[in-house]
Amino acid sequence: MTETQSSDPTTYDVPDDAESERCPECGRPFVREELLALHRGGVHAETLGADEIETFEEAYEDESERLRLFRLKALIALVVLYFGLLMTYALV
Ligand SMILES: [Zn+2]
Repeated sequence: MTETQSSDPTTYDVPDDAESERCPECGRPFVREELLALHRGGVHAETLGADEIETFEEAYEDESERLRLFRLKALIALVVLYFGLLMTYALV
């Protein structure tokens, strides 16, 4: 495992051949455009125009839906694991 540490938290180690979206305000790189929209809406909300706010809101709703689905899957996995172990304990 490699660990990248920097004395300046605003610098990021991005490979030369990697395509990234950069925040126009702070220069922080992002892998996907949706992540950039979420960053700009959260950190630079006062500088956004109407189109950028709409993009942020769409990205936020998509991210919220994915997070809700993840929580549901995690809950189902925990319930299955709990009852699986309970039945195993009851039978053995
Ligand atoms: Zn930024």
